[in-house]
Amino acid sequence: MQKAIIDNTIEQAKLFGILKYLADGVLTHAPFSLSPYTISSTALQEMTSLTAPFSELMIAVSQDWDFLKYYLDPIAETDLFLRMLLDFSLKEVRQQRQLLIQRNDFFIVKNQFEADILENTTSSSDSCSSVLRQVELNTVSASFPFLITQLSQLHNSLYEQGLFPQTVANNPLTAVVDAFAQAIRGYAAADAVLLMVIQAAETNLFDQLGLEHLLWKEHKIKTIRKTLPEIYSAGSLREGHLIIDGKTAAVTYYRAGYTPDDYRTPEALKGRQLLEASSTIQVPDLAMQLAGMKKIQQVLTHPEILSEFVSPEVSKRLLKTFAKMHSLDENIKTPAGEMQVSEWVSMNPEKYVLKPQREGGGNNYFESEIPVILQKIRQDEQDAYILMEKIEAEIHSATLVVNGHAETLSCVSEVGRYGICFAENGKLKSNEDIGYLVRTKSENVNEGGVCTGFACLNSLAVQ
Ligand code: ADP
Ligand code: MG
Repeated sequence: MQKAIIDNTIEQAKLFGILKYLADGVLTHAPFSLSPYTISSTALQEMTSLTAPFSELMIAVSQDWDFLKYYLDPIAETDLFLRMLLDFSLKEVRQQRQLLIQRNDFFIVKNQFEADILENTTSSSDSCSSVLRQVELNTVSASFPFLITQLSQLHNSLYEQGLFPQTVANNPLTAVVDAFAQAIRGYAAADAVLLMVIQAAETNLFDQLGLEHLLWKEHKIKTIRKTLPEIYSAGSLREGHLIIDGKTAAVTYYRAGYTPDDYRTPEALKGRQLLEASSTIQVPDLAMQLAGMKKIQQVLTHPEILSEFVSPEVSKRLLKTFAKMHSLDENIKTPAGEMQVSEWVSMNPEKYVLKPQREGGGNNYFESEIPVILQKIRQDEQDAYILMEKIEAEIHSATLVVNGHAETLSCVSEVGRYGICFAENGKLKSNEDIGYLVRTKSENVNEGGVCTGFACLNSLAVQ
């Protein structure tokens, strides 16, 4: 693409609202790609068809409080954040109605043949194998529905002008907003609003404002944005309803509350307790938030445990997309014989990712960091970590635009599918796939370069 066109596209991105704040408060465009990620129609179809079964799994797990406690309580002995989350359940008023807005993230593996050997399946033509590997499923704060919808429109506008390939249509924003409207109307309070729980310094503000704007434009429903301490000081209970700024918070949408940093003050903690004690529909509720934890993801890779929550047919489809995951105290079979997984991983750290029970990016350990951390983890802290096989994603070239600069790099792309699921007392009422997110980044984040290290919003194209 010519420089003049790139420069113009950067300005267009700002016009479309594809914006973010830098840490120093400067407003710029969100990083985006000028090369769509091309995948096969089979991979796209498989990924799309998995959204509903994965939502079904999360709803089922969230209904089984004993299961969640069984696996999370031991971690909470050393992890104060998890202890705090589990304790919120003591004051929780469980809702009849559930609304889950999730995003299920995948990589497409580099080499299907190698993947098959690793998985002990036969050949790439085997209908039992999958090129997909799940990274994680986000049950809380699945972000970017606005920005990615806007990027899809920008890419489509370039396509119409003959400047860009055709991309797969994408509009998760409208479905998210319509789901909020449906839940808020169903709550049947005259002055019902959406309460959005936010962080004080939010760089991804426009993704939230875009949603708020559409909810008003299409449904004439107001949004109140507040941090947890603000919710504590402005909120109160009236006959079980959460009243905030004189309105009824029918639905509470968490775009914060998933990291210990959001609970640094006693007021923040009390803000969450107030939400739990009210009848507001929490998106997600506490149990759904816990069901999305990495420890639960690891445990569900065991076929016998997974099959407690979904049918054998669904279980088979989900299992195909799981990377191998381990707890630190496991023994595994290796080419050098059976040994403790942490010992094996210390010798082969480049093949694994070490993950604590945290969300929001920047918490995982890669490569040479892994043996160092494994050395430091005390016996009683082991449960708080999981090991995941490193997914070798396929590599493609892409032109990425970060803070006004374009650079062509060798990249990998992570594709998330958004899903919306309504349930009543854990029984599914509707369950849909509503669109996708693609984040494209340099394959080697350690290398220098302006755009390296930034995940850039992107669209899909089909081969
Ligand atoms: P978070 O909750 O912080 O988003 P993730 O599990 O999504 O945690 O990991 C963050 C990022 O680390 C992912 O977006 C992906 O780029 C990378 N990552 C995580 N797990 C793997 C894996 N098994 N193989 C390769 N990369 C991974
Ligand atoms: Mg993630």
